[in-house]
Amino acid sequence: MITENLKEVEANIQASCDRAGRDRKEVTLIAVSKTKPVEMLEEVYAAGIRDFGENKVQELVDKYEQLPKDIKWHMIGHLQTNKVKYIIDKVALIHGVDSLHLAEEISRQAQKHDLTVDILMEVNIGNEDTKFGVRYEDAAELAKQIAQLPNVCLKGLMCIAPYVENPENNRTLFSKMMQLNVDITSELLDNSEGNTLPNMELSMGMTGDYQVAVEEGATYVRVGTGIFGERDYTKRA
Ligand SMILES: *Cc1c(COP(=O)(O)O)cnc(C)c1O
Repeated sequence: MITENLKEVEANIQASCDRAGRDRKEVTLIAVSKTKPVEMLEEVYAAGIRDFGENKVQELVDKYEQLPKDIKWHMIGHLQTNKVKYIIDKVALIHGVDSLHLAEEISRQAQKHDLTVDILMEVNIGNEDTKFGVRYEDAAELAKQIAQLPNVCLKGLMCIAPYVENPENNRTLFSKMMQLNVDITSELLDNSEGNTLPNMELSMGMTGDYQVAVEEGATYVRVGTGIFGERDYTKRA
């Protein structure tokens, strides 16, 4: 079942790339494996997927220890400052950075390990009270501050769009994210005096709306249910 799901997601991503005139290589599919047992991740791994997303520190660490070391782990959940130290040398990309305080702690822990850690800044694009993320209006300023920290590399933006029945309803928000990323990147470039060039990664789109997200410029899509099936929160992995 998982292999068939993957094929379908892959075909959908390809179709979205075709519609938008994008190269499939610009988009990385992250298999969001939270709550799912290691055996299911192994199946997805065997099918060729190397990017996995988790939203809990302990679960990420457990799975990291059990699975092959060429996996790129994505921390996609809200990260508490006091837990940064547990994952700092295990993650490929931290998606949900939404405060200078958190970015500073990531920088501090990365320094201890002599690492530079890639991060994305989370934007609360739907302006929802229930969501984490920096406000749209404050995003450019926070990006400027984060970009000055050592041992972290701000690679772009991330958002969790509102839940909608019709994915088309998120198209405008996704395109707003794309534009914000372009604006912030060019602003950082102007200030960087030819130093390291900021990248333009954009992590957006989940099972319900990743096709629209790809059409609007996502470079990472985070798909859980569409690959692994529904999550059962009554029995955690
Ligand atoms: C759980 C989760 C996903 C995947 O959600 P699905 O709807 O199952 O694809 C994506 N992003 C984040 C941040 C998540 O927490």
